[in-house]
Amino acid sequence: MSRPLLMIPGPIEVSAAVVAAAAAPPLSHLDPALIEAYAGALGDMRRVWQSSSESQPFVVAGAGSLAMESAAVNLLDPGQRACVVVTGYFGDRMAEMLRRRGVEVREARMPAPGELPSLEEVARAAEGCQALFATHVDTSTGVRTDAEALAKLARERGLLSVFDGVCATAAERFAQEAWGADVYLTASQKAIGLPAGLALWVASPRALEARAALKVAPPMCLDWEVWRPIQQAYEAAQKSYFSTPATTLIMALRVGLQELVSEGIEEVFQRHERAARAMRAAWSSLGLELLPSDEAWTANTLSALRYPKGVDASLLGRIKEHGAVVAGGLLPELKTQYFRVGHMGVVTKRPDDLLRTVRAVGAALGESGHACDVEAAAAAAQEILG
Ligand SMILES: *Cc1c(COP(=O)(O)O)cnc(C)c1O
Repeated sequence: MSRPLLMIPGPIEVSAAVVAAAAAPPLSHLDPALIEAYAGALGDMRRVWQSSSESQPFVVAGAGSLAMESAAVNLLDPGQRACVVVTGYFGDRMAEMLRRRGVEVREARMPAPGELPSLEEVARAAEGCQALFATHVDTSTGVRTDAEALAKLARERGLLSVFDGVCATAAERFAQEAWGADVYLTASQKAIGLPAGLALWVASPRALEARAALKVAPPMCLDWEVWRPIQQAYEAAQKSYFSTPATTLIMALRVGLQELVSEGIEEVFQRHERAARAMRAAWSSLGLELLPSDEAWTANTLSALRYPKGVDASLLGRIKEHGAVVAGGLLPELKTQYFRVGHMGVVTKRPDDLLRTVRAVGAALGESGHACDVEAAAAAAQEILG
């Protein structure tokens, strides 16, 4: 059989054009072609993020956690207070990063995995805080927060707002400027559809002012005031150097963002909604239950699914034998009770890949002793995919 499909919540399958760009010989960080691609990518990030022209996009070698940490250390001084909305594993990580910065953390936690704290609880926890942090889609639970409502809540109370979009950006609806969100961050290997290796974020003018007002400077490699002139120079088509950029990945980023911009970001969001509905129809037909307790906050980028009775993590190896790599549980308290299937990026343009995944899961469930009708599940998904 051909290479199994990579259907985990990142790294994900990427387009042929992105693969080609990432496979070219390395370029110098001063090569005119690299400078042009870097400039184009920064401009396209504002389009994909729907950010204002005054916002600052950052492209830095690293992964999602580096983007999170940069937000944790550039907005608040030690001793200031932040509210963290925790809807899973990555919210806990964000809170820990802030604590290490010396920030006092107030958590608004999910009542149970698969649920969300109410806006009233968030408002209570946010009292007296200078910033609000939330995970747009927590990859450990498959829960999507209402980023628009949270950004509004923060704005009304004079807090900065930061959204971890690592498993959401360029797939789940987000409009940074219209919603008044201050930082939206991601990593290249997730929904945005590139190989791993880039930390990406866009900071609003308010967020940049907060950095300028800090008393305690962040570590140099994370400091927005160190990185900002570099981004500005590249965008102005000038040579610049602080620390070597990931030139190969920036060439791939340029191609990936151009694909998103030419499709239209609203169409990209709708494509992910459609794919998610199709996958959920298939899961339901296979007798699988989602971890999120309400479809209103179930992510479009992945499905977190409880193992049915009598089925355990040995299912994952069987699914792979049938042609798809999926992920196990991530939330420590539930790790052995559920698994996760990513459906973001280019596979949402390819009904065949989605159906192959449904059939792989269904066949593996059957072999694990869970009776189900694989073709009925594929047909339920197909009907929605058209
Ligand atoms: C994957 C992920 C991260 C961490 O990203 P890395 O690239 O693994 O450091 C952070 N937040 C969310 C929501 C994620 O899905």
